[in-house]
Amino acid sequence: MLKDENLVGYAREATDFLGNKYQFDCMGCSFSNGEIKPINDFIYESDNFFVVQDIEIPLNGFLVISTKKHINSYIELTKEEQYELADILEIGIRSIKELNISDKITLVQEEKSKHFHVWLFPNSEKEIKKFGAGVSYVRSICQDLKENATKEEKEEIINTIEKIREYYKKNLKR
Ligand SMILES: [Zn+2]
Repeated sequence: MLKDENLVGYAREATDFLGNKYQFDCMGCSFSNGEIKPINDFIYESDNFFVVQDIEIPLNGFLVISTKKHINSYIELTKEEQYELADILEIGIRSIKELNISDKITLVQEEKSKHFHVWLFPNSEKEIKKFGAGVSYVRSICQDLKENATKEEKEEIINTIEKIREYYKKNLKR
């Protein structure tokens, strides 16, 4: 297994889109142990995984599914955890579509991140018009939203978190 120092892209601090600042060794672990507070709380939480709105990027319905344990690769999940992840992923995708947040979603999972997580990145119409769709535009869209999201857009995200949490409660049967 790769050592942390061999992995690129490991931030040690973050400011969420409401202005809260955090420092950490590993963002995923800091959510797991309560040092970082998700915006409007966890959307879903089990012994193995949690789902939150991305705290840094104010994009409506931008979900992050993360393991609680500090692993790096999908293949480090047990079979049972893989099945659980499949269910969590399905409900996340369904919620974004059925709550009319977006009809297209880009999934991103990079092993360069030291703590396993999956991005469910809804394709926002407004951002696609500006930058185009697909994985190559994800960084530009994130940057744009960090700089330009309005107070109203951030409030909408907070309401959406509530709706997705309800959706998980209703639809994820395990
Ligand atoms: Zn970690």
